[in-house]
Amino acid sequence: MYPKLVIDLNKVKNNLNKTIEMVKGSGCSLMIVTKGYCADMEIYKLLEESDIDYLADSRIQNLKKYEGTTKERVLLRLPMISEADDVVRYADISLNSEIETIKKLNDAAGRLNKKHKILLMIDLGDLREGIFFENEDEIYHSVEEILKLENIELFGLGVNLTCYGAVIPKKENLSILVDIAHKIETKFNIKLQMISGGNSSSVYLIGKNELSEGINNLRVGEAFLLGDETAYSQMLEGFYDDAFTLEAEIIELKEKQSLPVGETGVDAFGNRPVYEDLGVIKRAIIAVGRQDVDPDHLHPIDPSISILGASSDHLIVNADKTESNYKVGDIVKFKVEYSSLLRASTSSYVEKEYK
Ligand SMILES: *Cc1c(COP(=O)(O)O)cnc(C)c1O
Repeated sequence: MYPKLVIDLNKVKNNLNKTIEMVKGSGCSLMIVTKGYCADMEIYKLLEESDIDYLADSRIQNLKKYEGTTKERVLLRLPMISEADDVVRYADISLNSEIETIKKLNDAAGRLNKKHKILLMIDLGDLREGIFFENEDEIYHSVEEILKLENIELFGLGVNLTCYGAVIPKKENLSILVDIAHKIETKFNIKLQMISGGNSSSVYLIGKNELSEGINNLRVGEAFLLGDETAYSQMLEGFYDDAFTLEAEIIELKEKQSLPVGETGVDAFGNRPVYEDLGVIKRAIIAVGRQDVDPDHLHPIDPSISILGASSDHLIVNADKTESNYKVGDIVKFKVEYSSLLRASTSSYVEKEYK
C-alpha cells in the first residue's frame, strides 16, 4: 500500500547512538523527543533498550503508549487543566509555566497518591512557553507557590528556544537560565536537579564546547530523527538524514503546458498561486498530498525531478528533465524534513514499513 513511510531501524539506531554519545558525552542527561513520528512502537523498543534517560512527548496519548517503560516519561507541552489527571498518571515530569495548572496537577497527584515533578519553564525571548526571564518577581512568586504544594516537586528549570521565535541558543541566553536557577537555589535554599537547556537547536553548542556550565539536560527530537542541528541547519557528523523516507505512486504522467488555462482565482487552500512558464513539460501526479506531507519540505531522491505543487491528495512533479523512464504505477521516493515526517506519521492514509 502507498503512500508509505519507510523507517530504516538500523539508521534510527545509528542516530540514536550518535545522539547519546554527543549529549551524554557532554555531561547532560538526555530526553529523546518522540512526537515527530507519533511515538512509533518499533522505535520505542530501540529507545527502551538504550541508555537514554527520558521519553518525552508533547501529547499525553503518546506517553500513554509507553506504559510499563523503565524510562521516566516527560510531557513537553504545557498541560491542559482538563488533562491534569492523565498528566500525573502518564508522565513523571511535566513542563509548566502557570501556577493555576500546577495547583491542579497537585490536586490530581493527591487523588492518585503520587508525587509529580515539574520543570518551571523560563522564556528567554523565543516567546513561546515560559515566564519571561525579565519578570523575576513572577518567577520567584511562582517558585514560592510551588514549594507550598505537597504533591509537586520542583525538579528544575527549562527553556525552549528556536521553535517559535527562531532565537538561537547561545552562551549569552542560556547562562541567564543558569543564573536564574542559582538565584532560586540561594533564595529558597533548595537544590534544582535539572536545568534543561533546550532542543535540537542547542546541540551545536556541544560541538563548539560552548554549552553553558550548569545546563545538565537536553531534549532532542529532530537531530536524532533527521541528523541535523536546527540552529544553523547543519548535518551532524555520522548521522543519517534518510532514516525515514516516503514512497508514493505515480497515477498520471502527461505532457502539459505549465500555465493554467483561463482566468485564475485561488487554489484549494485559498492561496493565489504563481506559475512559472516552462513551456510544455512532462508532469507526474503522485498519490500523496498536503494531508500526508508538507510539499515544501519534501525532496525527491531522484535529483532530476522536482515538486511543482500539491493539493490535499495530489503532488504535482516536474518529470521533464529526468532520464529515468517513469511510467504510471512507478514508485517515487522522497526524503522528508521534519514537517513532512510529522504529517506522514500522523496521517492515517500513510502506511509504515520497517527495514
Ligand atoms: C518539540 C519539543 C522539543 C524537541 O524539539 P526538536 O527540535 O525536535 O529537538 C523539545 N522541547 C519541547 C518543549 C518541545 O516542544
